[in-house]
Amino acid sequence: MVYSARTMALLLAVFIALVTVLFLSLVQSVKSDGLIVAGVISFSGSYLLIYVVLEFLVFREINKIYKMLEKLRKKELGNIRREKSGALNPLKNINEEIFSFVLLKQKEIDELKKLEAFRKEFIADVSHELKTPIFAAQGFVHTLLDGAVNDKHVRNRFLKKAAKSLDGLDVLVQDLLTLSQIETGDIKMKFESLDLHKLCAEVIEQFEEKAQKKNIKLKLSDPSPKLFVYADWQRITQVMTNLVSNAISYTPVGDVMINFEVSKKNITTTVRDTGEGIPEQHLSRIFERFYRVDKSRSREKGGTGLGLAIVKHILEGHGSRAEVESTVGKGSSFSFKLPRMKGDDEKD
Ligand code: ADP
Repeated sequence: MVYSARTMALLLAVFIALVTVLFLSLVQSVKSDGLIVAGVISFSGSYLLIYVVLEFLVFREINKIYKMLEKLRKKELGNIRREKSGALNPLKNINEEIFSFVLLKQKEIDELKKLEAFRKEFIADVSHELKTPIFAAQGFVHTLLDGAVNDKHVRNRFLKKAAKSLDGLDVLVQDLLTLSQIETGDIKMKFESLDLHKLCAEVIEQFEEKAQKKNIKLKLSDPSPKLFVYADWQRITQVMTNLVSNAISYTPVGDVMINFEVSKKNITTTVRDTGEGIPEQHLSRIFERFYRVDKSRSREKGGTGLGLAIVKHILEGHGSRAEVESTVGKGSSFSFKLPRMKGDDEKD
């Protein structure tokens, strides 16, 4: 049974008053009027005293709890700051502390739930993506083992197909690794002042053969003065490689152009193609992992569905983001901004 401070004070005061009256009644000189007065006085005096002492003790205990909660909050919240109400009432302060603590915990729970859902979805996606090339290669190898190996023509064709599936698997695993390393921060960006035009020229060179085979013209604008940006050479090369590779893959015929727009503070690089374009309803999702407008076409072109997710993460690491504009049947353009640096020929 839990008594309030008031009930406790009342019970104790009654007890003290009774003891006082009993004691005085033993003294013969004290009359009944005197006994009543003494009883009332001792009851009121002791009630008041006990009540104040109890309240003080409760107040002290509450303050202790409040301080403990505050310590706990500081430990949990780290450097997250919260407005202090400064109220003198410790109960109000405790209330606020508990409320902010609960809010924080709820946020953490929501975040964990989201991560868990994301993890499950990601594992399902990865398993599915890995299964496709593995099953294909497995199929070809088993067919060969079941006898097709004796036919030279079939053997070469099947071995080539199995090798192509395994190459695809290798690219997929490499892309997954890159993505996970960027996300976990294992890959540290090496920022430096770099010649953006030179970087793009090197990327274009890699794709010359692939473009020629499809009769696609690769164009790189050559602005003056030289374009220097503050970025990571290797990572921006990867961004440009993925964008140019997509532009060539999804352009049946026409041009792929790289242009630059120079402002005082930034340089915007745009990769524009005259390809098939992307329907509007897909535009907001193409940067998600494994999201493809046309799954079978992407796979057929050797796409892993991770190229744009990697682009997005690298640009985020540069404090930037990719913008996309597209018209079905006319083409697409992907652009991103990087902070401009002064080139050697511009320095005073
Ligand atoms: P993938 O490996 O499938 O190319 P990405 O992440 O690079 O994966 O791209 C996601 C999807 O966005 C592609 O499957 C494709 O449908 C679409 N896409 C990307 N770039 C282009 C482009 N230049 N033109 C048309 N569609 C594109």
